[in-house]
Amino acid sequence: MDHVRTEPHDPATLQEAEARFRIAFEEAGISMAIVGLDGSFLRVNRALTELLGYSSEQLIEGGMALVHHPDGEAISQSWEHLRTGQIERYQFDRPYRHAAGHVIWGETTMALVRDHDGNPMYTIGQLQDVSGRRVAEERAARRAGQQTALARLSQLALIEQDFDALASATVRAITNTLDVSLAGLSAVEPGSAAPRHLAGAHADDPGESAAARLDIQHSRCTLERSAPVVVRDVANETRFDVRALRARGLASGMVVPVAGEDEAPFGVLGMYATAPRKFDDDDLAFLQSVANVLTGALRRLAAERGLRHQALHDPLTQLPNRALLLDRLRLALARRRREARWVAVLHFDLDDFKGVNDSLGHVAGDALLRALAPRLSEALRPSDTLARLGGDEYAILLEGLEDPAESVRVAERLLAVVGEPVELSGATLRLSASIGIALAAPTASDESEDLLRDAGVAMYRAKRAGGGRSELFDDAMRAETVERIALTNDLREAIENGQLRLEYQPLVHLGRRQASGFEALVRWTHPERGEIGPGRFIPLAEQHGLIEPLGQWVMREALTQLRRWHDSGFATKMGMSVNVSRVQLSRPGLADEIFALLDELALAPDRLIVEVTESAVMEDPDVANATLDALNDHGVRIALDDFGVGQSSLACLRDLPLNALKLDRQFITSLASSREAAAIVRAVCDMARTLRFGVVAEGVETEAQSQVVEALGCDFGQGFLYARPTRPEDIRAAVAELDARLGGAVGSAA
Ligand code: C2E
Ligand code: CA
Ligand code: CA
Repeated sequence: MDHVRTEPHDPATLQEAEARFRIAFEEAGISMAIVGLDGSFLRVNRALTELLGYSSEQLIEGGMALVHHPDGEAISQSWEHLRTGQIERYQFDRPYRHAAGHVIWGETTMALVRDHDGNPMYTIGQLQDVSGRRVAEERAARRAGQQTALARLSQLALIEQDFDALASATVRAITNTLDVSLAGLSAVEPGSAAPRHLAGAHADDPGESAAARLDIQHSRCTLERSAPVVVRDVANETRFDVRALRARGLASGMVVPVAGEDEAPFGVLGMYATAPRKFDDDDLAFLQSVANVLTGALRRLAAERGLRHQALHDPLTQLPNRALLLDRLRLALARRRREARWVAVLHFDLDDFKGVNDSLGHVAGDALLRALAPRLSEALRPSDTLARLGGDEYAILLEGLEDPAESVRVAERLLAVVGEPVELSGATLRLSASIGIALAAPTASDESEDLLRDAGVAMYRAKRAGGGRSELFDDAMRAETVERIALTNDLREAIENGQLRLEYQPLVHLGRRQASGFEALVRWTHPERGEIGPGRFIPLAEQHGLIEPLGQWVMREALTQLRRWHDSGFATKMGMSVNVSRVQLSRPGLADEIFALLDELALAPDRLIVEVTESAVMEDPDVANATLDALNDHGVRIALDDFGVGQSSLACLRDLPLNALKLDRQFITSLASSREAAAIVRAVCDMARTLRFGVVAEGVETEAQSQVVEALGCDFGQGFLYARPTRPEDIRAAVAELDARLGGAVGSAA
């Protein structure tokens, strides 16, 4: 019943039937042809002539060969089976060629007609135009391919440290995805006429190829317009000189500008095909997205460079900071043994700098420090390191000394330089300084931090002796370190006797304008010396094995406090941030202790935010990462503290299970004066959005800073502007006052 069979009838009805068939065939809405067993068209209907653009005479004369598009297969096996009567019909999709040259995708059905003996007589073909569907399918597939390629590149752009490697991957992705013969990336060089070739990919020549350069005229045209320049066919191009393109056998292409890390353009990205091509919106959007990915990577790399510089330099004078000094000192100490030379560290401190600040103001004080730096440098050898430790304190590292007495001569030169009069705010100042010198003999086994500390002790001695002089660290001075030991003993007692207490500083959700949590900060009131800040005693505790009991006490006290608040209906939606020292973090077992404590207090793990510094994580990455992973798996949140003062690699953020990042106060302070700081904060916030963690601005002291950090994308703020660290008995009032002042959602503390 599948096949058509002509039955014997009387001639009149036969004629009538044939006439009816002819009309039905001719007028059918669907394109049809009667095709002989030899493949020739015996008859075609009007719909088919309209679909293919040929007259019926042309079709009958030209046959299949006329309309089969060369992209489709010639004669299929199924056709052989049909015409020899082994099958009754079959269906297939294939491209046909319209008289005007373009492709028509046809869904074709061929059916066999037999005579009354059952022998194959001819076939009837029906053709349905499915070009629309076909185009949509191809477009969807192309889009999916572009999206995949883009996703891969974005991933790479987030971590790749080597921009050239990213550039090569990018141009390769373009030739593969857009199926063009070559792609290239060029950078604009300030002052140079032609953009500099950075990377290229050639479809026929996968190695880096000079032939994959972008056309210079095309690039220039794109840069001048700072907009994409799409060339569909060089034959019609009038915007720029296409001779070079033609000479290379290229017929079409697109070039888009690539924005740089700041306002200036970075360069151009583009590709070429050897045939004219109708690049569509998707193709252009893809190329532009790739350019945006490159811009994102450029911004990230620039921010990282800035961070590295910022992490190792003093923002006021641009001199190396303490971290960089210690680093160089370690290297110098290692070298000195090999080279049998001395190393000296000088600790330099202006006498009565406070007096200058008080009488002339901080601005003048800062100007003085800035002016002083180059003068001190001039008194040194190029191989010496001058570092600013903070305030008016400097340290100088002298390496490779044959004679230790040379250090004293350097100190005298420095004292002489400082003694020269300086003009400041209309006044002529005569300054003096105190210098402490610590020496490391070629054979001694000094630690770098010890040496710096000894120089500091010697400097105090010089200062107490009236200033304006230098002192060499000697054994008598070691006695002064005894004082540290005494303090450590007092601290041990304080921990044992419960003389420590906690204060709580609210964190503010900037968008919701309300307090969102607290950071616990430890306080010590020494019975004789009064308040001692954690900046002083935490390092002591870390060095002398006291940080474990101290840290355990802080964790228990802070979480117990939160439990009590929750029980009394206060701060029920808020969390508690607790600082965990690098020493605690490097001990296995910390996570389990914390889980047991949360259990005991019936607190949900996500109420606790553990604050760790990057250097703590870096110190012993294996143990630290295991601890952080365990905490994270359990639901405890993790914040990276003091970001921007250590290694500060944005790339490493990706590998940590972070919920929040706290931007160090130093950044927030420098936002007002440094565009670089703002760019870094923005890059960090962008990164945070991608990696889904929050950003906290620390040390926000003014309304202006608050607005800037919010505009740059920080989610949370912490600082004196909102609230100071507060005793627990005053916290409700402080939070109520804070929420009222911020004017956000009411009743957040409940
Ligand atoms: P941190 O974790 O960065 O804590 C923030 C510090 O900035 C606190 O100093 C806080 O009082 C101060 N601060 C907050 N807002 C502002 C502001 O607007 N301006 C200024 N100038 N300062 C602000 P604090 O309490 O002296 O603590 C110093 C450091 O001692 C802490 O830095 C933290 O690293 C450590 N620390 C404090 N408590 C603990 C603790 O319980 N355990 C451990 N391991 N370390 C702690
Ligand atoms: Ca902290
Ligand atoms: Ca901090």
